[in-house]
Amino acid sequence: MNFEIFRSAQRQASSLRIALIGKKIKTLQILEPVVVRPKAGGVIEEIRTIGREIELILDDGTVIRTKLKFAGAWRVFRSNSVAANKVDGADVLIEVQDRIAVCIGASEIETYHDFDPRRHPLLGRRGPDLTDRQSDLELCVDLMLGYEDADATIAEVLLDQRVMRGVGNVFRCELLWTCEMHPWARVSSLNRDESRELVSLAAEMLQSQFATQNRKLAVYGRHGKNCPRCGGQVRVTHHGEANRVLYWCADCQTRHSGTSASRYVTEHHTPPGVHPAEFIYLSELGRTRKSG
Ligand SMILES: [Zn+2]
Repeated sequence: MNFEIFRSAQRQASSLRIALIGKKIKTLQILEPVVVRPKAGGVIEEIRTIGREIELILDDGTVIRTKLKFAGAWRVFRSNSVAANKVDGADVLIEVQDRIAVCIGASEIETYHDFDPRRHPLLGRRGPDLTDRQSDLELCVDLMLGYEDADATIAEVLLDQRVMRGVGNVFRCELLWTCEMHPWARVSSLNRDESRELVSLAAEMLQSQFATQNRKLAVYGRHGKNCPRCGGQVRVTHHGEANRVLYWCADCQTRHSGTSASRYVTEHHTPPGVHPAEFIYLSELGRTRKSG
């Protein structure tokens, strides 16, 4: 593998992270027919590089994988800039509030769902959809209380489609913060009242303006910034089998902290003031240099 090209893919991924992560997608176009067609309205929460390939992971678990030709590249423009308007024939175009990212010269584009049995159950029935006003919230509570894996964390269970549907990753972080709940409290430590409180608040927030409007987020995407409730520092961690990002405040999300399970948790020791994406990029680059 050509080292320069590899490093260039990492550079592109770094600019994509800074431009796109945590922002609501306004437009998403893919020129070629793809199996899973990602929708606008979601949020990009991770950018991964594998050699010359760049993968963009959406908050619903959809992955857009682009493999670049020799002259191919991802470019980022400011919205409304002259250069952005001149882009023609982009293979992929993603527009967020203030930036447009385009992929030109891809040799392969593929979309798929990140494998997560909780998010995409292969067997069994799916839980109530919390965005639906008619959904049976008591059934959700029963499913949480009778959860088969007693050591599972509440952060994982909120994304389990067999228990409830409609809670995306951004929303999960905000919900746990609102309830002052430690993200990896064991699901089995919650009593019926606490489970009901989480489920009804989730349904209320999903069915209200909160889910549709450009709301101000308390923790999601705010790593290193101050928690709006207690002034503590918002942290970012990877969590769960699918290793999804999780933003939280360790200072005030303390409910059930005594029962927390530490499995599948990867702490980011990102220095304050440094964007976690930038930190990950620099760490990756460091590893490449050592091994290259
Ligand atoms: Zn706090």
